[in-house]
Amino acid sequence: MGSGQVTDWQGKHVTVAGLGVSGVPAAKVLHGLGARVTVVNDGDDARAREQAAALEALGVTVRLGDGATLPEGTELVVTAPGWQPDKPLFLAAERAGVPVWGDVELAWRLRGTVPGKPVAPWLCVTGTNGKTTTTQMLASILRAAGLRTAAVGNIGVSLLDAVLGEEPYDVLAVELSSYQLHWAPSLRAHSAAVLNLAPDHLDWHGSMEAYARDKGRVYEGNQVACVYNVADKATEDLVREADVEEGCRAIGFTLGTPGPSQLGVVDGILVDRAFVENRRESAQELAEVSDVNPPAPHNIANALAAAALARAFGVPPQAVRDGLRAFTPDAHRIAHVADVNGVAYVDDSKATNTHAAEASLAAYGSIVWIAGGLAKGATFDELVARSAGRLRGVVLIGADRALIREALARHAPEVPVVDLDRTDTGAMLQAVQEAARLAQPGDTVLLAPACASMDMFANYNKRGDAFAEAVRELGAGA
Ligand code: ADP
Repeated sequence: MGSGQVTDWQGKHVTVAGLGVSGVPAAKVLHGLGARVTVVNDGDDARAREQAAALEALGVTVRLGDGATLPEGTELVVTAPGWQPDKPLFLAAERAGVPVWGDVELAWRLRGTVPGKPVAPWLCVTGTNGKTTTTQMLASILRAAGLRTAAVGNIGVSLLDAVLGEEPYDVLAVELSSYQLHWAPSLRAHSAAVLNLAPDHLDWHGSMEAYARDKGRVYEGNQVACVYNVADKATEDLVREADVEEGCRAIGFTLGTPGPSQLGVVDGILVDRAFVENRRESAQELAEVSDVNPPAPHNIANALAAAALARAFGVPPQAVRDGLRAFTPDAHRIAHVADVNGVAYVDDSKATNTHAAEASLAAYGSIVWIAGGLAKGATFDELVARSAGRLRGVVLIGADRALIREALARHAPEVPVVDLDRTDTGAMLQAVQEAARLAQPGDTVLLAPACASMDMFANYNKRGDAFAEAVRELGAGA
């Protein structure tokens, strides 16, 4: 199993590591291709048993409760992306010289195996924050250009479906996580973007260097463009380190005036100085800042990255504007919930780390900030120090709120803080009421917790819903 396509799966002994969203479809597809598939899974709960029974009915072997041992005779391991690289199963595979592929690698290798189906190039998006939004913007732009496309990867259509299903595509907008990239050694994108790099998932990757290295894989072998963030030097460094196809260009995006080979912003206009005839002297207008929804700085950066990838694919300027206008962000990403008594209430529950929350806070002038939850090992000093000038007040919720309170005491001692000592779900209503008390007309009450939600809610969606519900209650009483 070198780096090329595998055309003959007949009788190949493939071990699929992990049931679940990627493992079950992978096992089915491989079994369908004629491989001898064994699924190994750590857990042995009711859900796993149900999935196992369905697979066994097809003729797939499933071993529950033992994800560590490499089955005898394995020629290839296909793993769920979340499995940590230091697991005994992978060490055993390495010792035995058995390759390990993730779900993305499998899909990549299966491109072009469906007779008559066009082989769609991949435009890939990764980064610590903004992946989903940018990938969806990109798909919207490609669609506006009349191309058959889908947002795939971590979102929407699964990669295996996109590659093997009946639907024909001209090009795919692919969101990739650092885990997926880790397990995708032979992926070669048409063009790719790394939006930003901030510490995240370091427990999984082992170090910031390893995390950056995995993100940087997205540039390996790019054909047309490596898109980087001018404001985030680490992304540019990754481009420099990548081994790309001859003629592939480094394209920067910036919220400032773009230099040659960059996309940027001039007087409220998104402009392209990369994919134009004479980039030394001319620039192409793409869209207005107001075409970006919402027009927050970090989101304009996302739009520029999406535009760069689309332009690298040859999409006309008009389609960038139309695609951005047609785009609506997913829920809980800087969603304007309501105005109550002249105060705007904004739900960015998806801001689950400090980097995302900082971008969110930078989008508003005077803020009552609702923050807190599970910190996942993060520190808050930088975030608070950089955002202090915008804070009218802060309401803290959740298990690790003391960490934020201490950072506020150090860097913003004059900002009033309400510390809610309760982690029950009803705390959100009280948080919103306290925020309303602190806010003045013209302010924004912003839920951008900088933390995960699982101490109080099932997930960030539920947290955002609770916020919106509380705002509605507040509005009803206003
Ligand atoms: P991801 O798929 O990478 O998690 P999303 O597009 O879902 O990214 O956005 C998640 C959150 O990250 C948003 O709610 C917002 O707070 C923040 N965010 C989005 N884009 C950026 C960006 N370019 N830089 C920093 N933070 C961002």
